[in-house]
Amino acid sequence: MNHFDLELTRRLAALREQNLFRELRRVDSPQSPRLQAGGRTFLNFSSNDYLGLANDPAVKNAALEAIQKFGAGAGASRLVCGSLAPFQELEEALAAFKQTEAALTFSTGYATALGVVCALLGRDDVVILDKLVHACLVDAARLSGAKLRVFAHNDLDDLEDKLKWAGGNTGQRRVLVVTESVFSMDGDAAPLRQMVEMKEKHGAWLMVDEAHATGILGKDGRGLAEELGVSGQIEIQMGTLGKALGASGGFVCGSRALVDFLVNRARTFIFSTAPVPAAAAGAAAGVRVAQSPQGRRLRQTLRERSAQCRTGLAPLSGALGNAAGGNDGSGVRAILPLILGDEAKALDAAAKLRERNIFVPAIRYPTVARGAARLRVTLTAAHSAEDVSQLIAALKTLDLGL
Ligand SMILES: *Cc1c(COP(=O)(O)O)cnc(C)c1O
Repeated sequence: MNHFDLELTRRLAALREQNLFRELRRVDSPQSPRLQAGGRTFLNFSSNDYLGLANDPAVKNAALEAIQKFGAGAGASRLVCGSLAPFQELEEALAAFKQTEAALTFSTGYATALGVVCALLGRDDVVILDKLVHACLVDAARLSGAKLRVFAHNDLDDLEDKLKWAGGNTGQRRVLVVTESVFSMDGDAAPLRQMVEMKEKHGAWLMVDEAHATGILGKDGRGLAEELGVSGQIEIQMGTLGKALGASGGFVCGSRALVDFLVNRARTFIFSTAPVPAAAAGAAAGVRVAQSPQGRRLRQTLRERSAQCRTGLAPLSGALGNAAGGNDGSGVRAILPLILGDEAKALDAAAKLRERNIFVPAIRYPTVARGAARLRVTLTAAHSAEDVSQLIAALKTLDLGL
């Protein structure tokens, strides 16, 4: 083995030793409550496909039609070779959905976060992050070069301290507060109303990542900001098209000025080939379904499954962490973490569930803090009540040591 591979092999061995090694598992079926893998069928509680749209006929057909009409690839950046109609249509649909002036899509949610934060902020500015925001927002904040401050998760007093320190927007210095609306690994919600009041009081801007609320919370699935009636006061709303909307890509919704500025300054938008037109058309279909009677039925089913699962897991509620409390309006909880702490324990529990043909991922550092490893159960509208009962029964017979 050469030096390069030897060095990497050593680093991999260290990961294994710490129970932090990861590997890919091949799956031979679409995302749905049942996954085919290694000739077996698993009950799937791992996907963020919350409404079951990743394999929905309307979403798939929209993607297929776009391939027929616009081809498989987009050719270049949208600023270089022209902006294909499916992207324009998707952005109009997203702006109408989120009730903002304009929207802009990116190849992924990750690229959205990097593009937006780095376009808006530079070295002289301040970015204030909730402790539990997604890695893409942390990376975006670091890459921007702005001074980075972190406030304790959902802690308004700590946020206010950081805002006082930052001193507000002055023209020379910009201050941006960043949070998620529903947190990806805990499933709890941010106190958006109070955060909006606070950023206004201190003259800062607010960016809210609705990756896990879009399609699920609010009227027609518009998100938590809509549900709490504050979407008009949030400067930057972002999200992904790859979770509840069933396709792929990321988006920003906000003012026309914001979108025009990002088209000029967001490097992950400018210097990247546009996504495949099929992804945009699929996502637009996802947005249509979310607002349709079918979407309402799917959210109702998700609400029922979530209530069933929370009730069923109540005896284990000590492990539910932040998600055991509740500051989200409608009470739909698609993400239910069972916090086991030790990485080996989480891996062992996930392996035992797989023996029972149930797939729940063990989430470990660096996705969550060291010693906060967990089983992350995600529910979708495509699960049946029987599926959820099976999961609860299996979790209860496992010795989780809770
Ligand atoms: C998944 C996720 C993203 C990234 O979106 P992708 O489209 O998957 O790149 C961003 N923010 C949060 C909170 C997420 O959970």
